[in-house]
Amino acid sequence: MTIASINPATGETLKTFSPDSDAVIEEKLRKAAAAARQWRKTSFAERAQRLTRAASILEQRKDALGRLMTLEMGKLRRAAVAEVEKCAGGCRYYAENAERHLAPEPVKTDARRSEKRFQPLGPVLAVMPWNFPFWQVFRFAAPALMAGNVGLLKHASSVPQCALAIEEIFRESGYPEGCFQTLLVGSDKVKRIVEDPRVAAATLTGSDGAGRSLATAAGAQLKKTVLELGGSDPFVVLPSADLDKAVQVAVAARVQNAGQSCIAAKRFIVHEKIAPEFEKRFVQGMKALKVGDPQDDATEVGPLASQQVLEDIEKQVRGAREQGHAPACGGKRVDRPGFFFEPTVILDAKGTRVWSEEVFGPVAAVARARSLDEAIALANDTQFGLGAAAFTQDPAETERLVEEMEAGQVFINGMVKSDPRLPFGGIKLSGYGRELSEEGIREFTNTKTVWVG
Ligand code: NAP
Repeated sequence: MTIASINPATGETLKTFSPDSDAVIEEKLRKAAAAARQWRKTSFAERAQRLTRAASILEQRKDALGRLMTLEMGKLRRAAVAEVEKCAGGCRYYAENAERHLAPEPVKTDARRSEKRFQPLGPVLAVMPWNFPFWQVFRFAAPALMAGNVGLLKHASSVPQCALAIEEIFRESGYPEGCFQTLLVGSDKVKRIVEDPRVAAATLTGSDGAGRSLATAAGAQLKKTVLELGGSDPFVVLPSADLDKAVQVAVAARVQNAGQSCIAAKRFIVHEKIAPEFEKRFVQGMKALKVGDPQDDATEVGPLASQQVLEDIEKQVRGAREQGHAPACGGKRVDRPGFFFEPTVILDAKGTRVWSEEVFGPVAAVARARSLDEAIALANDTQFGLGAAAFTQDPAETERLVEEMEAGQVFINGMVKSDPRLPFGGIKLSGYGRELSEEGIREFTNTKTVWVG
């Protein structure tokens, strides 16, 4: 298993790392177990003090940390800096709210006193993807640490420098040794780590295949898991929509992070009454995007994160082409070093690979619907159920879309996004469990029933 930083804008290998040996893994597990025994006894105030310090470090170093993300996975510079700021915000949210979210809840019963308490589970393994290399980790770590758990991070093998930088932030924030550690390991070690009796629970953000593997290994040990997996989010546009806004958000929602976001809009379902106009403007918008160097602030779409992601996208677009659906714009890699792909639109895409599979790049699949019923049916015509967006000004349509679209989060007249105050997660092949908000921090706790007679 290679653990290496490769600059996606150039293809150049920046640094390689030797994976942790079995002895190093053993030592990290030992430290995590020891730290968990002490950390669970700390007060919320002590935990919040460290997490607030982590937020300050993130804010102070946002430019350098952002640069690291751009170099390792090609994220646009300004998006990378914004991601670091979002992490700081997530830390502050949980530093300020964890105690309230986990306060014991009295319940009236036949007891003199009865209540629910929320106690930590212990070391939690977090298997994370490369696409938001800081945010994915902090949205797990901030609530987990505030709840009194300790974290073991197995980050994607393509972002080792981000993984080590995150570990360093927690160290400098004053967390005791073992509270947050990075394991430099490939996915082949995950099964053995999750099976270790010192690991209490696990979470994975990534593909459904990786999620199944982790859940199988954890399930065999009857360990709790939270899975945040892929998505093929629908974006529905109905005749009453503000078309200017819908087109502008559609372009942004498809190409954010060069299309490599689990909640990027991927399938655009447009009512036939407005479809010709929407399609014309959407194709124009996608065509006009400036693809290039992610360090350059004029760039709107950077490279894909790896050669593998580029090849997967090429295969999916080729598949659609072979099925008779030539792209209305884009459709091929950009002729320059690095892993760049042109913003692409495939019209009338129902039945093609770009419709049925998750497309992790700047490629939009568009289909027309004759009615609201058909639009909802097409929105739900996917194995995934992460986010869903729709544009309409009609209250009755809004209510039906909110109620009937099969997704963990529905956004009307806006782009699907995560917010620490709102739960985040999916249904169907997009996984189970929730991150963020009160639901997120409670996932890795033992809801203990207390009955005192
Ligand atoms: P991936 O291949 O599933 O990798 C994600 C993580 O899982 C990496 O750390 C990877 O390690 C590890 N992994 C891979 N195969 C594994 C296995 N069999 N057992 C245990 N661990 C395994 O996904 P990706 O290509 O990096 O990321 C893209 C996917 O993540 C997309 O499907 C996207 O939608 C999803 N995602 C979901 C969310 C969400 O919140 N729902 C957020 C972001 C991304 P190695 O790197 O060492 O292989």
